[in-house]
This record gives sequence, structure tokens and C-alpha cells, in this order.
Amino acid sequence: MGYGIHKGEALVRVATERKTIMPSRKKYKINPETLLYEIDKVSAKSRFLDFLFKSLGIIAMCFVYFWLYTSVFGLELPKTTILKKQNAEWVSRLEVLGKEMEQCESTLAGLQMRDDQIYRNIFGMNEISPEVRNAGFGGVNRYSYLDVMGPNSLLLRTTMRQDILTKKTYVQSKSFDEISAISKRAGDMASCIPAISPFLTDDSKYTLTSPFGYRSDPITGSSKMHTGFDFACPPGNPVYATGDGVIESVKFELFGYGNSVVIDHGFGYKTRYAHMKSIYVAEGMSIKRGECLGESGNSGRVTGPHLHYEVMYRDEYVNPENYMDLTMPKEEYAEMVKKAAQQSSKVLTPHTRVKMPN
Ligand SMILES: [Zn+2]
Repeated sequence: MGYGIHKGEALVRVATERKTIMPSRKKYKINPETLLYEIDKVSAKSRFLDFLFKSLGIIAMCFVYFWLYTSVFGLELPKTTILKKQNAEWVSRLEVLGKEMEQCESTLAGLQMRDDQIYRNIFGMNEISPEVRNAGFGGVNRYSYLDVMGPNSLLLRTTMRQDILTKKTYVQSKSFDEISAISKRAGDMASCIPAISPFLTDDSKYTLTSPFGYRSDPITGSSKMHTGFDFACPPGNPVYATGDGVIESVKFELFGYGNSVVIDHGFGYKTRYAHMKSIYVAEGMSIKRGECLGESGNSGRVTGPHLHYEVMYRDEYVNPENYMDLTMPKEEYAEMVKKAAQQSSKVLTPHTRVKMPN
């Protein structure tokens, strides 16, 4: 038995070799021919597959772990915790902003109320309609960039609320501008508001035929609102402006008011002088109380010659009797007319005094 190695000897040798080789992870397999343990050489392919399967196993384990962590135990990832905290901060900031806006809205509502019921009222200005005050933004969806936040998100609601507040504030600010402008003319109110008769107060020259209010229509006979005050007189009686203002319109109509003048006195007041024979003034002219507007006549829808005189306050007809003093001495009236004529020579130039055929 001089050749080869006995089995027992081989085992001993392997055992001794193992002692020194143990720390390495090399694999051994027995060679059936030599009966020797030899290092098992693993191919690169199988090593790669081994690595791949282990990696996939680890990834799968990660998923299972993630699922258990978040879904089964309901725990949060650190990143989620940070984001949630940041989100809570933003929400509380929006809520603080909402409370501040609430205060602004309440202050603005107080200003709007005082504006409509006091300031605008004093100067005869109409209230600003709720449609104008509460008008939103029409047209394209200006909030489309917030669509990702959902149709009713806090951010969207806050943004819309802020826009409305801004717009309302703008409307209010414009209203104060108007009041500021008109208040500078507050001293003129007394001379602008209609306060005298449109005719010289000589009752031998006219007859008061029809007061303001419901009456039987002189043409149709049916009950109808008479929106003015009638002074019957032969054509040609001079007609005077009853307050300072600007000529708003001069019309020459075959029917209705016939030849008529409307004066805008400001502070919510307007007056109309209808059925005139001739008109001396033109649209846009400034006019003083007591200045001559033309002559009374019987143009338009009339049954006889007369002056139909109307007073309007904030677009509604009011009783002219409350805006004129028919007991004013005619001398005083004549003096006022004389003064007004002297002042008006600056304004009324001959070419504007157009006498209309009647
Ligand atoms: Zn009338």
C-alpha cells in the first residue's frame, strides 16, 4: 500500500487543514476518485444568481416590513411626521389669517353701513347697490392653479375670501373719494337745492292748476300719478332755474314733455321744466338760481298752455311744493332774477340763446 493515501490518513489531513482554513468561507467537496476534499469552485453565473436571489429576498423583506410598519401597526415614517408637522403649521397660519380677515370684514361692514346710511345720504347720493359691493370676479377661473388642492380646500377658500375683501375695500375707497369730492362743495348745497318758484311769484300771471299726486288724467280721464306741479299761463312767461346746477338735457319733443330742460343740481336733486315755448340754454351749461331758462308754452302733450315743473330727488319724484316758496315777495324775486342775469352774462353767450319755433 505504498501508493496513495489511506482513507484514515486523508481524514486526518483534512481535519488538520480545516483547522487552519476554517476562518475562510470556502466550500469543500469530496473528490470520489482521489477521495480527497477539494475546494469547491463555484461558477460566476451561479454566484450572480445567488446574489440576485438574496437581493430580491432583502427587497421583498423591506416591503413586508414597510407594510407591517405603516399599515398593520399604523406607524409613521419620519418623513411623514415632518411633513405632517409642517402641514399643521400652515393650516394654523391660514386659520389665524382667517380670523384677521373676519375682523377686517366686520370693520368694513361697519364702514359700508355708515357710508350708505349717513355719508352718502347727507349729500343726496344713492346707496351703492349690493350687486356692486358684492360683485365677484367673472370670466376665467382665476383659481385654477389651486385645483390640485381640491375643490373646497382651506387655501382656496382663504384666497377667494381675501380677493372679495380686497374688491369690497376698493369699492368702499372709491365711494369715499366721491364723498370727499362732493363734501368740498358742501357749502354750495344751500344754493343748489331747488328752493324757489320757477315763475316770478306774481300770482296774477299764472294759475296753479294741478298739484303733485294722483289725479284724473286731463286727456284720458283715467287716474294717473301727476309727477309735477302745473302753472297755467299764456305762452311767453319767463321760466327761471330754481337752484344752481348744470343743464343735463335740453329736448325738443313733439309729444310728452314737448320742449323741456332738466337741471342737475347735484346732491341728488334734479328739476324738469316742460311744455316750453322757447329754450335759452344748452346742455352742459352751468346755471345759477334765478337765471332764465326760456319761456313757458304749450309744446308736447297738453290741453292748454302751462309750465309743468318737476323735482326729483335720488331718481324719485318728490312734491315740488316742498321745494319752493310761493309766498316770496315778487320784488325780492325780481331782484334775485336781476342779480342772476348780471352774473350769467359770463356764462350765457348770445349764440346759446337759441329761440326755438313753437
Ligand atoms: Zn303737469
